[in-house]
Amino acid sequence: MPHSHHSHSGQFCKHASGLLEDVVQEAIRQRFEVYGLTEHVPRYRDVDLYPEENQVSLATLSTQFNDFLKEAHRLKSLYASNITLLVGLETEYITDLDLNNLATLLDKLGNRVEYIVGSIHHVNGFPIDFDHPTYQRALASFTDSEEEERQEALLLAYFDAQYELLRRFKPEIIGHFDLCRLYTPSLRFGDYPRVAEKVERNIRFAVNYGALFEINAAAFRKNWGTAYPGEDAIIRSHAGRFALSDDSHGPHAVGMNYHRLPKYLQSVGISELWYLKQTDLPNTAGRFIHPVKLDEKWLNHDFWRQRSP
Ligand SMILES: [Zn+2]
Ligand SMILES: [Zn+2]
Repeated sequence: MPHSHHSHSGQFCKHASGLLEDVVQEAIRQRFEVYGLTEHVPRYRDVDLYPEENQVSLATLSTQFNDFLKEAHRLKSLYASNITLLVGLETEYITDLDLNNLATLLDKLGNRVEYIVGSIHHVNGFPIDFDHPTYQRALASFTDSEEEERQEALLLAYFDAQYELLRRFKPEIIGHFDLCRLYTPSLRFGDYPRVAEKVERNIRFAVNYGALFEINAAAFRKNWGTAYPGEDAIIRSHAGRFALSDDSHGPHAVGMNYHRLPKYLQSVGISELWYLKQTDLPNTAGRFIHPVKLDEKWLNHDFWRQRSP
């Protein structure tokens, strides 16, 4: 049962490419059985627009997000006999405005948002995954005198933001858990005891309400030697459960680097995988979707055989 819980398309995201329907068709061609469509929620301040969005208004972002939901549900019905599409969203947390508006949005949209990928892409209002200079600006926004202290402050702020997001929305999927070290992949949380404590707190909280941690293959194309999260993110020591995502940004990236996942999973001792399935019973967040454990022999599926490295 090959699956992915996290994707974007150029139709509804300026830094992605291709039509959403092309993404879906590519997922079908590769024999994915469950595929999640999860566009970013709108942002609500002009200063939060990305450089490539200089022609875009905040109103456009909101319209675009509604158009995404409409199109995603159309595709879900249209291709129902070929693939199980799940329709979700990926969060943003730049200021409290984002979380308050997300609550309003979820109230309004009800069942049309089937699940949430809970992600943090900003610290102190600065994007931490846009490019290296912008990441440096995020780091410099902390006024501590020593560089190590600024690094620690950024990590603490990231995991506090993540905790707040988890507390308020109980996302079913924890998106790229350790994106905060995208540009510092050799950083180990154990070297920052206060950070490690927050990492553990977040993991424990997420495990307790039943979240799945995403094994996100996008890290490979960002020049990591591993997926997100990296080995030391210790989720497994708290009985964490994992689901796969390609975090694709267009048809070309569907299933990208999935061939590297089995070896990575084996190296960190993960043999069990989970995926989301719609049900009649609400979960703890009131959404009608639950984790299901994948057959132990998931690696025997043809999908993986044709991808042996
Ligand atoms: Zn993301
Ligand atoms: Zn994403």
